[in-house]
Amino acid sequence: MGETETVKVVVRCRPLSTQEIGQGHKSAVHCHNDNNALKLKNPLSSEDPERTFTFDAVFGPDTDQMRVYNVAARPIIENVLKGYNGTIFAYGQTGTGKTHTMTGDLEKAEMRGIIPNSFAHVFDHIAKCGSERTFLVRVSYMEIYNEEVRDLLAKEGQGQNLEIKERTDVGVYVKNLSTVTVSSASHMLKIMEYGNKNRKVGATLMNVESSRSHAIFTVTIESSRDGGHVTQGKLQLVDLAGSERQSKTGASGERLKEAAKINLSLSTLGNVISALVDNKSTHVPYRNSKLTRLLQDSLGGNSKTVMIANVGPASYNYDESLSTLRYANRAKNI
Ligand code: ADP
Ligand code: MG
Repeated sequence: MGETETVKVVVRCRPLSTQEIGQGHKSAVHCHNDNNALKLKNPLSSEDPERTFTFDAVFGPDTDQMRVYNVAARPIIENVLKGYNGTIFAYGQTGTGKTHTMTGDLEKAEMRGIIPNSFAHVFDHIAKCGSERTFLVRVSYMEIYNEEVRDLLAKEGQGQNLEIKERTDVGVYVKNLSTVTVSSASHMLKIMEYGNKNRKVGATLMNVESSRSHAIFTVTIESSRDGGHVTQGKLQLVDLAGSERQSKTGASGERLKEAAKINLSLSTLGNVISALVDNKSTHVPYRNSKLTRLLQDSLGGNSKTVMIANVGPASYNYDESLSTLRYANRAKNI
């Protein structure tokens, strides 16, 4: 992928699950990894036209975790190590592989996602620098649920509904958010796992409930040479709330309110990104949602952003996949 753009958009399509294959579902998504194109064709309706999309990269169902890391994430982390900001988003309908892409399966080395692979990358880099540079690596982990910011590293019952503040010297920040200084990749993993246990919901309801919050893992890397000028880079790793339209799922009451807030933050994110890629825009609507407000310093300017749009291949996901591809398409540089 070219190294100059501020925003890159890639698409990942997961394989049909065993269950989907068992139920005889056919794939509506056809990926051409080599020319970064993806075709969407509805096998259930010949009236829907076949649509072709192109992105900065396309990862078909056979793409392994390391390839996704090397192509989509590695350049961002390298930039952060040089002292710039970088943000990686996983976007898509619930069940399409956002968490697989960002976190993956920690038990198997080759199934680890972008977040654990970035930890290894950061500490490999630090080891390679030896005594040439000194580093300070700090992490925080929060979720935005119902437009409320929660600290995932706080002690149980604490760190709810935190305030977003702004100061001219430090920019936008979350008041009272925990920050942990980490000493190794495995230390970072432990902190992440602690935070995951603190997510809005217990593990049993994981897919229903965690799909309604945005999880933001932040890594701040400061470094200096012989106590000289300090550079600071910030990496934001974001597993977004599910993008599915809730009206279809018959949501009501609290659920419908949650849904409205998710829609607002995801559409604001889309608007912010398209304002950034469209150099002519003078107004970037960061302030319209907590998510974009919090990430303001990490989007635009010198920062690099990668949006990973995840889609499910099965034909019953056709409408949601189309909507995800349209969203991703809008975020592209033209
Ligand atoms: P989301 O976070 O978007 O709701 P998940 O990451 O939980 O989705 O993925 C849903 C299921 O699909 C999980 O069981 C996950 O392991 C599986 N899955 C997702 N992407 C892939 C992939 N690229 N290869 C294999 N399995 C995948
Ligand atoms: Mg998930």
